[in-house]
Amino acid sequence: MNERMKRIAIIGGGAAGLAAAIAAGDRARELGVSVEVAIYERDDRVGRSILATGNGRCNFSNLELEIGEYRNADFVKRVFESAGDERFVCDFFDGLGLEWRAEPDGRLYPLANKASVVVDALRAAAADLGVHEACEREVVSIEPPREDGKPFTMRMKDGEFQRADAVVLACGGRMAASIEAAGVPFTPMRPVLGPLRVSEEEIPLVRELDNIRVKSSVTLMREQDGENIAIATEQGELMFRKYGVSGICVFNLSRLAQPGDTLSICFLRDDLRGRAEGYLQARMRKLGKRFGESLTYEQVLRGMLLPRVSETLLKSVGLKLEDTCAKRDLDDLASLLTSFSLEVAGIGDADLCQVRRGGFAVEAVSSDIMQVHDRPGLFIVGEALDVDGPCGGYNLHWAWTSGCLSGRSAVNSLLEIG
Ligand SMILES: Cc1cc2nc3c(=O)[nH]c(=O)nc-3n(C[C@H](O)[C@H](O)[C@H](O)COP(=O)(O)OP(=O)(O)OC[C@H]3O[C@@H](n4cnc5c(N)ncnc54)[C@H](O)[C@@H]3O)c2cc1C
Repeated sequence: MNERMKRIAIIGGGAAGLAAAIAAGDRARELGVSVEVAIYERDDRVGRSILATGNGRCNFSNLELEIGEYRNADFVKRVFESAGDERFVCDFFDGLGLEWRAEPDGRLYPLANKASVVVDALRAAAADLGVHEACEREVVSIEPPREDGKPFTMRMKDGEFQRADAVVLACGGRMAASIEAAGVPFTPMRPVLGPLRVSEEEIPLVRELDNIRVKSSVTLMREQDGENIAIATEQGELMFRKYGVSGICVFNLSRLAQPGDTLSICFLRDDLRGRAEGYLQARMRKLGKRFGESLTYEQVLRGMLLPRVSETLLKSVGLKLEDTCAKRDLDDLASLLTSFSLEVAGIGDADLCQVRRGGFAVEAVSSDIMQVHDRPGLFIVGEALDVDGPCGGYNLHWAWTSGCLSGRSAVNSLLEIG
């Protein structure tokens, strides 16, 4: 009697799911065995989550990854080591025929500068390997086999069920909480890597600056044991929003921020931060020669900040542009320009957050093959696990790597290859 063909079900056709499907297909081809690989995707197409990444350009990895930046970094490090060397993701995409380029800071983008090219490359490879895309199929639970050698059962939202010998859970962060995955421990998820909301009292202030972008350096400060501690500093473009602040520097700080922390914003060039008062004195001397000894704040700040930014900063300390700026005021002005404080109230807009923090516990999963410890045949990957990283290709790099490792391991587990 012919043995039934083994089935691998991948739940979620995003970054990790597509990578898992290709790695499973590649491994089966390499071993010369037939394995059925199907992706169950709740959306009407696979890869949609990838299309939105990197502002539609897909910053798919980074040559300068600092593994310590990941949440659960030790686990992530072991997973990366199990997958291969640091070229693993580049090699994966080279193998799909994707042409890419590196930006000076190490961020990788497709040469065509379009995320759709990445999705096309992934889908073409999956199709060539015979991967089946089952779209508009939402899985609500994964039930473990009743006895050894029997398949998993996946219940669908529409009441149907499917069976598979191995299951890769690659459902991302947004929906992970709605799947019951054979009792694997789960930490409630919250959005991070997004804009921050400021305290109610400060909202009228930031509202006046809505949509204004400034180059700045932002430090996240926290009061600990009566002391104000700097938690992290990020430099880059900060954008004011009606409810708070946004921009990549803020996104990165949002991973660490807690309500009650403050953002200390420096509007001056970084090299001037430690000598702002001296710099302002020199500036006043220079401008005094042109406009006369008695200068207004408007005259001092013109050419340095946008008028609306100057006006709003001054307003926050009860001053106006037309007020006279005396030498004795420069200490206060230097503080205003180098450490303008906003209190963090929380995440600004959950829909704009790039990842979810929390998810299935990394302790439940083996870092060498991504398999749940006490559930042979069940793998969890990507953002569904409690792993997240900063902006710059970290999160997709994690998704591809963990996905590939699980796909390959799923085939090995079916064939009982160690
Ligand atoms: C706007 C935006 C921009 C981003 N830009 C970048 C970037 O440039 N670089 C970077 O590294 N990271 C970026 N990220 C983060 C990155 O997109 C994610 O970390 C990554 O996609 C996670 O991959 P994943 O496969 O785990 O989950 P996802 O890519 O989210 O895929 C999960 C898939 O599972 C499906 N699904 C969910 N639940 C079910 C279910 N119950 N049944 C069936 N299917 C289900 C979903 O529909 C989805 O297709 C960005 C995120 C956002 C939101």
